[in-house]
Amino acid sequence: MLEKIMKSAQSIEDKLITIRRDMHRQPELALQEERTANYIADKLRALGCEVTENVGKTGVVGLLKGSEAGKTLAIRADMDALPIQEETGHEFCSTRSGVMHACGHDAHIAVVLGTAEILSGMRDSFAGNIKLIFQPSEESPIGGADEMIREGVLENPTVDAAIALHVNPGLSTGQIGYKEGPFFASVAFFAIEILGKGGHGALPHHSVNPILVAAECIQALQTIASAQIDPMEPFVLSLGSIHGGQKSNIIPEKVSIEGTVRCFGDELMNRTGQMMENILRSITSAYGAGYTLKFKPEVKTLINDKIMIGLIKEAGEQILGKENTLAVSPVLLGDDFASFSQLVPSAYIYLGGGFHGQPNFALHHPKFDLDEGALPLGAALLSYTALKFLSKGP
Ligand SMILES: [Zn+2]
Ligand SMILES: [Zn+2]
Repeated sequence: MLEKIMKSAQSIEDKLITIRRDMHRQPELALQEERTANYIADKLRALGCEVTENVGKTGVVGLLKGSEAGKTLAIRADMDALPIQEETGHEFCSTRSGVMHACGHDAHIAVVLGTAEILSGMRDSFAGNIKLIFQPSEESPIGGADEMIREGVLENPTVDAAIALHVNPGLSTGQIGYKEGPFFASVAFFAIEILGKGGHGALPHHSVNPILVAAECIQALQTIASAQIDPMEPFVLSLGSIHGGQKSNIIPEKVSIEGTVRCFGDELMNRTGQMMENILRSITSAYGAGYTLKFKPEVKTLINDKIMIGLIKEAGEQILGKENTLAVSPVLLGDDFASFSQLVPSAYIYLGGGFHGQPNFALHHPKFDLDEGALPLGAALLSYTALKFLSKGP
């Protein structure tokens, strides 16, 4: 079976590169993935999948049935690009100004379409269904996964387990990275306004300067990580934006601050919102200022199921070798595949996409690139995992 998968994966390598480059030339931002969705739907139909479109606005679902009834495995790819001006200089670089597939979702589409092609030729080898989920809006706070779940993507037929991968330029092509249990973090975004009282810079005693109050609040917010949370607990509160004031001699009315919190689990995330509220209330009231806090948990913790991650790990060891199937650490990145992982046993891994022996640009960089040799490997890995999960009989 493995030999057949590898042969099939190798035979479609050029096709997968073409798909990835087609996607790369025409990137689309979150919830605007219309051309992308049509392209994917056409490919899925040509492979004999039952196709449902417009799930969660632009999402596409392909259903591939095996030769007998059985469980259903979901395989998910995200489809959206980023608001970045590409600087790779490739002949297949983005034709859309200011939009780029800089997170490798073009590769995810190619890998999962490749998986569909391999498995469509092996329907006799599995019992049950493969549900190919092409999800919009992974990069935007309006998570595409939750929308698709709300519209029933995990039903009809009911999904028993889900798998996905993300390219990682930090690992070389031919390697994968796996982690059992909590892997990617819960993510919240917040916006704070410190509300003072404007006036003349020469008469501070007639004003409440929100810049001074904001400075104290910023310092105090950093003490959440350093003094209020178990130091063994992964946690970050990062500030990404601050705006206030126009001119050197005017005390402004307000200062706006934005940032993100990353940690594992809902309880700590909710407690953090409360700790922020307490700090802001105490400091602003001490200075006669006011505040507003919008604290929105957006992405849940991504949890890898022991059995599902075990299946992918085994596939990795067989296809790439034990030395290339690497245990990796959890990170405070977020991916809304987490929503699937909270509902069904799931596995999400890194697929190495870095060029050997050279520095590779990070995801979300205008020069991010990946070694396309990873595409057939990714397709083989997902296909083999799927066939193991949906294996027939005893
Ligand atoms: Zn990204
Ligand atoms: Zn991504």
